Amino acid sequence: MNSQKDAKQLKEELFTKKKNACLILSDEDIKAADEFCVGYKSFLDDAKTEREAVKEAVRLAKENGFLEFDFSKKLKPGDKVYKVNRDKAVLLAVIGTDDISKGVRISAAHIDSPRIDLKQNPLYEDGELALFKTHYYGGIKKYQWTTVPLSLHGVVFLKTGEKINIVIGECKDDPVFCITDLLPHLAQAQMKRTASEIVKGEELNILIGSRPFKDDKESEKVKLNIIKLLNEKYGIEEDDFISAELEAVPAYKARDIGFDRSMIGAYGQDDRVCAYTALKAILDIENPKRTAVTVLTDKEETGSDGNTGLNSAYLSYFISDLAENLGGVPRHVISASECLSADVNAAVDPTFPDVTEIKNASKINYGVVVTKFTGSRGKAGTSDASAEYVFRVRELLDRNSVIWQTGELGKVDLGGGGTVAQYIANLNIDVIDVGVPILSMHAPFEIASKVDTYMAYKSFKVFFED
Ligand code: MN
Ligand code: MN
Repeated sequence: MNSQKDAKQLKEELFTKKKNACLILSDEDIKAADEFCVGYKSFLDDAKTEREAVKEAVRLAKENGFLEFDFSKKLKPGDKVYKVNRDKAVLLAVIGTDDISKGVRISAAHIDSPRIDLKQNPLYEDGELALFKTHYYGGIKKYQWTTVPLSLHGVVFLKTGEKINIVIGECKDDPVFCITDLLPHLAQAQMKRTASEIVKGEELNILIGSRPFKDDKESEKVKLNIIKLLNEKYGIEEDDFISAELEAVPAYKARDIGFDRSMIGAYGQDDRVCAYTALKAILDIENPKRTAVTVLTDKEETGSDGNTGLNSAYLSYFISDLAENLGGVPRHVISASECLSADVNAAVDPTFPDVTEIKNASKINYGVVVTKFTGSRGKAGTSDASAEYVFRVRELLDRNSVIWQTGELGKVDLGGGGTVAQYIANLNIDVIDVGVPILSMHAPFEIASKVDTYMAYKSFKVFFED
């Protein structure tokens, strides 16, 4: 008898079996993904800045039985605690039944997104219009941020010490703000600039008013009228902007995309798509074996530096506190820990296929993306997960029927980028990037697939439950 297999048979056995998740998932699974994303869209609308994301995470944590972490109180398995770092980052933990010395399982996502920050002396008048000077935050294509309705979010500390929370432009009846751009009729010279300078950094000025204060003598009457309004409503004087953090972000809400409603379009999905899924995963687990930790961090988009970024000690301090509280040696606990760095990757865009190497790039609807390394030009600035740890995550996801794909951020030598993974790896923790493929990343309106989002949630959850 001839046992020789034909090519078709062999291919079926040996070639990759990756395919579109929508062809694999049952109708019920797809419905579950759609329903999961209803909550996700609310989160996107309610948490457009890192401060708002922390607030929302704490609100949901409290609803799910989490208490503020108190080092002086002895922790026990099943306890759920959270700790806020300066209102801009938050750590959540569910204490496991295993000895803490076996390490903790961490999902780490970031809650800052590219945006337009106000400068410390932002308010001015020019051409009888009032405007704000800005400094953009994170990597953006600056021209994308003009002629977009913007809302203003943040805090102002008045000279009295009073803290004013500001959110203007999110309610239907609120005014919004806008960065203007030249009409094409007069843009001949502008259109000859290179794309990175079509709109320059110092041209990202936000229009905030036009009516002058009624007086015939004084100058800067439009500016005066605006500061008068701000003073009446909030008590703000011009110098108070110095002790403020005000961020302009797109004013629109998250929307379904496509006739089939299969995707979500919204501001800030990098990385709130992973922040929400990693948050939901820790909220939805009970009595895990290993202690589970979700960290939602700030400052990833500017390189993770600063005391609310993951290049600071706050994550290792938190795990050390858990370790000491539970009778472990902090450095042993940290060294035995595992992490999923929950961040997005670039999805293949059929309109711009040249920047991705199709055999290794992530695609919309192919599930959560596992990215072994990031960095650029010879893998500079990456932690590059070991084959051992890639296998560990591959086996975990396959065993739990989580649909996943591998990803790479663009063709070799074409660009690249980083995540928080390297900073966690530097603590001697095994870490790999796991997240959602995104179209139009860092644009004011980013796109993610609902089934990919749901698979991200499942991957963080099975990681905690394993
Ligand atoms: Mn990111
Ligand atoms: Mn980013």
